[in-house]
Formats: sequence, C-alpha cells, structure tokens
Amino acid sequence: MKKILNLQCASCGKEHKTRDSDYLCNACGGTLEINYDYKLIKKRFDYDVLKENTAYNMWRYIDLLPIDSNEGVPPVQVGWTPLYNAETLADGLGISKLYIKDEGRNPTGSIKDRGSAVAVARALELDAEVITDASSGNASDSLACLTAGLKLRTVIFSPRNTPEAKLVQLYIYGAQVIRVDGNYDEAYELCKEATAKLNWYNRAAGFNPYSREGKKTCAFEICEQLQWEAPDKVIIAAGDGTIISGMWKGFKDFAKLGIIEKMPQIIAVQAQGSAAIKEAWERGGEAAKVRAATIAESISVDFPRDAFLALKALRESGGAAITVSDEEILQAIPELARGSSVFAEPGGAAVYAGLKKLVAEGAVKKDETVAIIVGGNGLKDIAAAEKSVHIPNTFVKPSWEEIVKLGMAQK
Ligand SMILES: *Cc1c(COP(=O)(O)O)cnc(C)c1O
Ligand SMILES: [Zn+2]
Repeated sequence: MKKILNLQCASCGKEHKTRDSDYLCNACGGTLEINYDYKLIKKRFDYDVLKENTAYNMWRYIDLLPIDSNEGVPPVQVGWTPLYNAETLADGLGISKLYIKDEGRNPTGSIKDRGSAVAVARALELDAEVITDASSGNASDSLACLTAGLKLRTVIFSPRNTPEAKLVQLYIYGAQVIRVDGNYDEAYELCKEATAKLNWYNRAAGFNPYSREGKKTCAFEICEQLQWEAPDKVIIAAGDGTIISGMWKGFKDFAKLGIIEKMPQIIAVQAQGSAAIKEAWERGGEAAKVRAATIAESISVDFPRDAFLALKALRESGGAAITVSDEEILQAIPELARGSSVFAEPGGAAVYAGLKKLVAEGAVKKDETVAIIVGGNGLKDIAAAEKSVHIPNTFVKPSWEEIVKLGMAQK
C-alpha cells in the first residue's frame, strides 16, 4: 500500500513493513502505529474532495485508512453518526456548547463497528479464513455483524460478564462463540493464544493497529460536522484506551493535512472500579494491572492494552483522566436520556457523569466547546439501565375508573 510508510513501534521506534506483522513489534512487543505518507494523501484528499463526497459513512475517509478498498465488507452503514447540539443539557450544566456524538447509531449499536470494519477489510485483503476477538460484547458484536454472510468466519471469546443483548447479537449474526469462564482479560489472553496457534486473524484492541485506525473516523466526522473545527475538549470513556488513541490519531491526521488548526484536549473517563489508565496518569508512569469491577462492562479492563498510546494522547493534548463511580454512571443514564434523548449503555453514560464532575470542579471554561462520545446504545445492556429506574410490578385493570383512581383525570 503506497499510502502507508511503515508500522512503527510506539515503544522502541522500530519500523515494520505492512507484510511483517499486523500485531506487535517484533523487537520489543510494543504496540504498532501506522504511519502514512501525508504528502501522497494530500494529492487526492482534502476537504473540497470531502464536500463533493455523498457517501455518508466512514468509508468517505478511506484515503486515510490502512486498506485499499472496503469491497467485500457488508454495506451496512458504519459511521456518520449524529453529532447533537445538546442545548438543554448545556444550559442545565451552565456551559456554552455541548455536543453528543451518538455512536449507538452504528449497526450493532456501538463505536466498535468502526474498528471492526477496518479489521474485516484487512482480513479480507489477507485472505484470512477466521477472524477472532475477545470482548465483553461490543467489539465482538460488530465483528459478527460485519462478517455475516461472508466466507470469513468469526470466532468470539466471550467472557462471563457479557450482557445478554450483546451475547444474543453474536448468535443472531451467526458467529461461533466460545463462552469463557473468566473475565475479559482472561478471554483476551486465550484469544491471543488461539491466534498464534491457529493462525487466525485477531482484531483485538491494542494488539491490532488496523482496528485502531477505524476509530479515527469518529474524530474526522466530528471535525467535519463542526465545519472543519475540533471541539476544545473531547471526553471519551476508556477501557483499553483504543478509542482515545485512535481518535487522537484522527485529530492529528486532520491537523497534518491542514484541515483543522486547533487540536482538542482529550479527557479520559474511567470507572472507579477499573481505573488503570487514570492511576497511571496520576502516577506519571505506565499502566499497571488492576482488578476491574464495574457495572460498565465495556470499560471493565484489568490491564488496558492500549494504555501506552492513550496516555500519550492525554499528555500531548494537555488532557486529563478522571473516574466516576458506578452510582454516578447509573444516575447519568436517565439524566442523559431525559436531557438529550440519547439512551446510553453504562460505558456511554460514564462520559456524561464525567462531564458533570469536570463542570463541578470548574475544569470546563465558560466559553469552551465540549464533545462527549457516547460509545454504545442503552438497549445493549437493559439489566444495567433497569437499576436506574423503578418499574412497578403492579397493573391497573383496563378500565377508565382505574385511571380516575390514579388521579390523572383531575383538572
Ligand atoms: C469499547 C468501549 C469503550 C472503551 O473503549 P476502549 O478503546 O476499550 O478504551 C467505551 N464505551 C463503549 C460503549 C465501548 O464499547
Ligand atoms: Zn518495539
């Protein structure tokens, strides 16, 4: 691929060719970053080209993705999700501009569709027979969806805490599911072992640099939807840290191409019970393993696989990392829904809980533009959402008298 210069190790700097490895550095095991020939890309891609492009999905940015074509990937609409101007919530918080990027509008209801789409395109280019991943749901759902009906088979390592709706999606799309009696990190390691032994193609976060690239398109869209500007602050929930590293790369790509001038600050939100990145941020070192426990399973990670680049993004952007409690996350689900009509899963509502905290601490300035990334749809984890509302188990007889008894007929 001409547009790719190399795959460079984020830790030791060693440069690899596209045919060397799709995963980690062969010298030190560090995570790889894909470097592009921006001069070449600039010749055929700029915002005038984008303005003419009527394909409103993530493939409108294919010139900046590490694949030659998306041919063969099912034509479901990944990307070009809405960016809502959330005036009611902004007023309530006393901030000037709040945007919500609703990633729950992707085909399987989460931002993971973006990463999976690129990984599937890459696996097709390599003529892989099996693509695999370990995930508590969203990443694997998107793989299952995007390989549905293809020769490329999907094998998923599904940990114990996979919410029911996410599990059902896998079976509906026809993935082969291995239910692992363990947590995400244990499923991840088993998936990695199977990849090495069986020569499968692995999409895993922080392991596969191609899937990270797909996340860039979320940043591209925000800039395009804001008329070629980045917000002042972008708030992102972090588990492995790939959404952060991927989106930061996206903003950098657009800056390198001269499409945006000002870079945003990136703020990571983690659950208190799964805060390896936040702890590393405060220590000023690398991430260390924790024992993750949170209701927000999509950000429940013992050892974040993409922490190195996520922490780098926080540093380079002058950002920060904060945590929110499960209680704050559960409270944020109906608040966000009632104030913006966006129903988020816990990992998505965490960013709103984080925003509230930042505003309370005075960390958001009056004139700043803030965007929050809601990574997944609330319907993907009803059991969690149910904890934040009260659903009475009583019924009324289907008669008008009963309505009168409820006091609703009084003027
Ligand atoms: C995966 C996911 C996250 C966290 O992304 P990482 O790349 O693991 O940091 C946040 N929210 C939702 C809904 C997700 O599916
Ligand atoms: Zn290395």
